[in-house]
Amino acid sequence: MLPLVALVGRPNVGKSTIFNALTRTRDALVHDQPGVTRDRNYGVCRLNEDNPFLLVDTGGIAGEEEGLAGATARQARAAAGEADLIVFVVDARDGTSALDDEILSWLRKLARPTLLLINKIDGTDENAVRAEFARYGFNEMLMVSAAHRQGLDDLLDEIIERLPEEGTAETLDNDPSRVRIAFVGRPNVGKSTLVNRVLGEERMIASEVPGTTRDSISVDMERDGQLYRLIDTAGLRRKARVEEVVEKFSVVKTLRAIEQAQVAVLMLDANEGVTDQDASVLGAVLDAGRALVIAINKWDGLTDYQREQAETLVSRKLGFVPWAEVVRISAKHGSGLKELFRAVHRAHASATHEFSTSEVNKALEVAYETNPPPSIRGHVSKLRYVHPGGTNPPTFIVHGTRLKELPDSYKRYLENFFRKRFKLVGTPVSFLFREGA
Ligand code: GDP
Ligand code: GDP
Repeated sequence: MLPLVALVGRPNVGKSTIFNALTRTRDALVHDQPGVTRDRNYGVCRLNEDNPFLLVDTGGIAGEEEGLAGATARQARAAAGEADLIVFVVDARDGTSALDDEILSWLRKLARPTLLLINKIDGTDENAVRAEFARYGFNEMLMVSAAHRQGLDDLLDEIIERLPEEGTAETLDNDPSRVRIAFVGRPNVGKSTLVNRVLGEERMIASEVPGTTRDSISVDMERDGQLYRLIDTAGLRRKARVEEVVEKFSVVKTLRAIEQAQVAVLMLDANEGVTDQDASVLGAVLDAGRALVIAINKWDGLTDYQREQAETLVSRKLGFVPWAEVVRISAKHGSGLKELFRAVHRAHASATHEFSTSEVNKALEVAYETNPPPSIRGHVSKLRYVHPGGTNPPTFIVHGTRLKELPDSYKRYLENFFRKRFKLVGTPVSFLFREGA
């Protein structure tokens, strides 16, 4: 379970600057793609690899957003009530204000562990600032300048220190024979229908797994001799509470489910193509490095022309994840499920394959000899050796010299070479480059 941290504060104190600094990902390559969007309110901080946490930017407190943006913003604010830690952000330059006072009394009612973060200390007299905020009664005040990336390491340490020690997905479910799947997607794409269909067929062997939190439910099942765990998904919720009916789609639950799963099945609605919200769920799957299968649902009842249109739209918008398998299904009629589970199985097998050092070195050698790195301004990168660096996603750590000058096109070449040689489908592949021997 990913712990949840909420940034709370009035507009303009620097919450989104802090949010961006903490949730930036290593894999910039992926996020340059037009088909992926980052959710502005939700992200996972992985700066400390052993202690990832979910970060919510609750935005301005006023909240007049409408429609879907409004729903996300309302959720973000509601998330503060469930947060394991609230980071109350204030502005060193403005000092205390009536609005801050108001937020503080709201926070006192929430009674969640809270950290006071004073931002924008650049160019201020820190002692005066400290004295100014002393009346808020926090034992400790953390001072940073987010825009200048000052104090962010301390902030990260402070946050992690205050988070509950809970089992991560790895320690909770390390039964390697069970494939952990999350069905994800925006509201109404058909997640519940699919889950119920899948479980309905397998009712005899499905069993509930005690929730890791109040209202998370996962279900274990078997299908064609393979064990699965369906990670907490909309369709598995017992009896929805009133507010869950209103906000049927929970971003926090979606992100947590992705984190606990090995394979995410991104469900799309054939009638609606790929929307911004689909792109943002996809972004979360890619951020987490999870294996991915794309399921275009509601394939029933479409004319040939509509099917062709749906195909074109999906391949145009999601062409940048060519490694993901696309299956067409009808959750309602149960068609395409065999193909879906086959794709999940292939993605899982690729994502969790353990490589030997010798086979990856052989691959690197052949890749290098077939096509050595180009000379950039008279310099040539040297790739010396590679070793496997983990699974889900498969990670390869390449050692060599002048690796900073290795062009992105060459990195892509390596990735594609490895994909082809090891028949890796349905999973991202991560290459890390280490300078030196
Ligand atoms: P939010 O409304 O709380 O999300 O605030 P933003 O992150 O959008 O920041 C509001 C403004 O404050 C922007 O113009 C930022 O560039 C600026 N800002 C953020 N952090 C700092 C800081 O550490 N020092 C200074 N001087 N400006 C900052
Ligand atoms: P969720 O919000 O993603 O869990 O979506 P639901 O499972 O609640 O489905 C939303 C709506 O789409 C419901 O009215 C379903 O009956 C309908 N639906 C789901 N799957 C299919 C499908 O394969 N074909 C058609 N035609 N409708 C579907």
